[in-house]
Amino acid sequence: MSSQQQVQNLLDFVDASPSPWHAVKSVETQLLGFNFVKLNETLQWDLQPGGRYYVVRDDSSIVMFVQGQKPLVETGFKIIGAHTDSPGLRIKPNAATGMDGLLRLGVEIYGGPILATFTDRDLSLAGRINYKDDNNNIVSSLLKFDRPLLRLPNLAIHMNRSVNEEGLKLQKQNELPLILSAIAEESLSHAYFSKLLLEQSECVAERLLSFDLAVYDTQKGAFWGAENEFYADSQLDNLASCHAALQALLDDTVLENENTLVCAFFDHEEIGSESNKGADGSFLGDVLQRIALATEKNKEDFSRALAKSFMISADMAHAYQPNFPLAYDPDHKVTVNKGPVIKVNANQRYSTESVSLAMFVDWCEQAGVPYQKYSHRCDLACGSTIGPTTSARLGIRSIDVGNPLWAMHSIRESAGVLDHGYMIKVLKKFFTASPQVV
Ligand code: ZN
Repeated sequence: MSSQQQVQNLLDFVDASPSPWHAVKSVETQLLGFNFVKLNETLQWDLQPGGRYYVVRDDSSIVMFVQGQKPLVETGFKIIGAHTDSPGLRIKPNAATGMDGLLRLGVEIYGGPILATFTDRDLSLAGRINYKDDNNNIVSSLLKFDRPLLRLPNLAIHMNRSVNEEGLKLQKQNELPLILSAIAEESLSHAYFSKLLLEQSECVAERLLSFDLAVYDTQKGAFWGAENEFYADSQLDNLASCHAALQALLDDTVLENENTLVCAFFDHEEIGSESNKGADGSFLGDVLQRIALATEKNKEDFSRALAKSFMISADMAHAYQPNFPLAYDPDHKVTVNKGPVIKVNANQRYSTESVSLAMFVDWCEQAGVPYQKYSHRCDLACGSTIGPTTSARLGIRSIDVGNPLWAMHSIRESAGVLDHGYMIKVLKKFFTASPQVV
């Protein structure tokens, strides 16, 4: 498949996944096409060697795995981790307020978005709603408005004369509510919004009990550049890494090799990963233990398997933007279309250490994939990702890598077309590599 086609598939995946709940649904759809079986955490699991399985926790985190033919104590787990969430705006519980002839929705800031990029975009809503069905059970269903529904109009420059010198500063409580409607009946705001959600969901319940709703950009992904060598979309951090990991796994030669392969895509990375379904929660460890106990003899074998395991934590990296040369360490510029980035931080904001780095370089070289090394400026605070947390929780060797990306946490991020194919290629090599005992 050409790099262009691989990226088109990625853009289709992102556009079908406007919220973490939709992202997990998109992953499930692809897994079912490859005969993966869904497991329920409340039931007993009967795992077979060579079997393909997945587990979803609370609709927005997912762990998928292929039970290896070889004993885990020989191979360990080969794990790729990524995250399903992206920073942005979330709708507050009592969101709808009518004032001055306009209905607005109050929002909460989720993670660290570049707020100014949310202005003047064709925004909409996606997420899940909860209600009671005919049997008195509480059920969740996905909800998505396909059309532009909301807007955060900028203030005209005539009322904000210094915007180009000082940047757009939005007061977080008062200046972020989104305009939804021009209905004049101010006292009916809440009922109007609930009705809108129920109509869109097509559920037959009379009232909503609760919702999780993310604000998303309806503009589809696109290629750009003189040779179409770049692409842009929302949520590339980190759905691009989820997609690369999934493509690496769903390859016939990869699926048929004898290692135990795992992909874990977590929600809540952007807010610190500390939740029952986050990377700092028990989800991945719980699943790995159940995989091990299904085939190995005892808990010691599980510990031995962990000691043989390796995790690649895949999350996007900061591509060099030549308009802002002073933002980067001059010796660690990473460039789009020059291959996956290995992230290094002595203070363990990234889990990479010299041995895992050497192993990843070896996989890149075996796969014929270029690679780059990134270190953040010493005088800027470095970001982090799921690598250090997961590696610490499970006690397994890990590395943080990711493709170079411009405008991380903007509602419209950009990256290089060649890098996506490179990442898929090296992740496939990792999945099929023989265990490298150090
Ligand atoms: Zn990320």
